[in-house]
Amino acid sequence: MHNSIPSPVPPFDEAAFPEDPYRANAGESHLPFVGPLSARSLDPATEEPDRRDMDECDACRTPDEGYVWVADRWRVRATRRPTGLPVVLALESRPHLDLGDLPNLLAAELGVMTVRLEKAIRSLPGVAQVHVQRWEDGNSHLRLWFLGRPTGRRELWGPYLRAWDDVLPPVPEDEWRNRLGIVAAWLADFGGRAVVDPPRFNWQELSELSATELPLSPDGAEAE
Ligand SMILES: [Zn+2]
Repeated sequence: MHNSIPSPVPPFDEAAFPEDPYRANAGESHLPFVGPLSARSLDPATEEPDRRDMDECDACRTPDEGYVWVADRWRVRATRRPTGLPVVLALESRPHLDLGDLPNLLAAELGVMTVRLEKAIRSLPGVAQVHVQRWEDGNSHLRLWFLGRPTGRRELWGPYLRAWDDVLPPVPEDEWRNRLGIVAAWLADFGGRAVVDPPRFNWQELSELSATELPLSPDGAEAE
């Protein structure tokens, strides 16, 4: 029975916020905007366009070097540049398949890869939670997005994390690249190939350590 399906929205006292429909509808507003907002009206419905095929597919045309980590059947890519969240990554199937078209082998691996990548991102310093989303309306190539939510930012809870990614200032590029390298190395421990290198030590930050605490090879050279 349809009316037996529990609502994803928690009970909320609408009367407490009669002037704010977002609070009333969402339980608690986590929109990254302030001020009076009004809902857009929709244009008349049109015929649904064809979703892009392989010839026009960005995923199919991008070589492995454009990714963070690659394997025989899966690849992980990042945004082209740092954005407002600590890290935003996308898991893609290597073959041009949509979610509902995956054969059983890839469907099963998708579950494993989703858990593995979520855990890798959630293990990064400064990341408290990972939102997993899929919204590729124009493309028929499976792409699952993983958005790392920064620790301690209660305003970013909930479904508007993607919007916050656009609103917040980009994170520093060196920190972002280090995170990509950590995730790539994590995934490569299970197989595949890390395309982005893991972060290197900043020796200036370690200058207070004594020489005996630094990892040295027998001939005295710095260890890799
Ligand atoms: Zn494709």
